[in-house]
Amino acid sequence: MKHQAPVLARFESYALFLDIDGTLSDIAPSPDGAFIDSATLQAVERLSDELGGALAVISGRKLTDIDRLIGRSAQNAAGSHGAELRKSGHLLNVSAAPVIDTNAIEKSVRDRFSGASGLLIECKPFSVALHYRANPTLAEAVEVFVDHIVRTNDGLTKVKGKMIVEIVPADVNKGSAIASFMSREPFLGRIPVFAGDDTTDEHGFETVNALEGVSIKIGDGPSCARYRFDDAAQFRQWLTRLGSARRSTD
Ligand SMILES: [Mg+2]
Repeated sequence: MKHQAPVLARFESYALFLDIDGTLSDIAPSPDGAFIDSATLQAVERLSDELGGALAVISGRKLTDIDRLIGRSAQNAAGSHGAELRKSGHLLNVSAAPVIDTNAIEKSVRDRFSGASGLLIECKPFSVALHYRANPTLAEAVEVFVDHIVRTNDGLTKVKGKMIVEIVPADVNKGSAIASFMSREPFLGRIPVFAGDDTTDEHGFETVNALEGVSIKIGDGPSCARYRFDDAAQFRQWLTRLGSARRSTD
C-alpha cells in the first residue's frame, strides 16, 4: 500500500501513543536485542514536553522492559498489551484485569515444548509470550497449543504478533489502554494519534478511529489504520519532524 503520512495541524491539540518494536525501534532478532536510537529518544522526550505530557508508550513489553528501552519518557506507559498501566509515573489500578496464573501457563508450555529448540518463553506480570523467531517452523504447533490453553481456561485470549503468540487476559488490549489514557488528564479532550506495526495494534487503531483520531500502520499487511508508512525508519523520520521542530523549518 502506498505511503500516506498524516498532517497534524495545531500539533498541541493531539495526544501521541507509540508502539515500540517495529515502530520506535526496528524489529530485533531477539526481544533483548532491540534498541531505540538517540534521535528518536530525544524526539519522544521533546514531543512529550510540547504536548504537556500527553504522550504514552503502548507496548506488548512489560513495563520494566519499556523503562530499559526508553527511560524518563515512559512516565505514561501501557505494558503487557495494556495489562500494566502507568500514568505520570504512578501505576494505575487495573481492576478489570483478572489475575492469571502465569507460572502454571509457563509450566504447561515448557512441558509441551521440552526439547524443541528456538522457542523463547517469556513470563510477564500478566501474560506469557512464546517467541519463535529463532525457529519459525514452530509457528503452527505454538498457535495450536495456545488455542488449546485459551479454550480450556476462562478469561484468557490469544494475541498474535510477528513471530510471537501470547496468552493474555481476555479484556486487556492496546485499545482499552489507549481509551483509559484518553479518559484522564492531560489526554482528555485531545485528538489521539496511535502508531504501530503489528496485528496487536489493530485494537488500538479501532479505538483511535472511533475517537476520530489518527491511526498509523507501519509496514504492509491488512489494517484498519487510516494512514501508513512503509517502514519504521520512515515513520521515525516523520516523528522527529513533528511539533516545534517542524514549524520552525516550515
Ligand atoms: Mg510493534
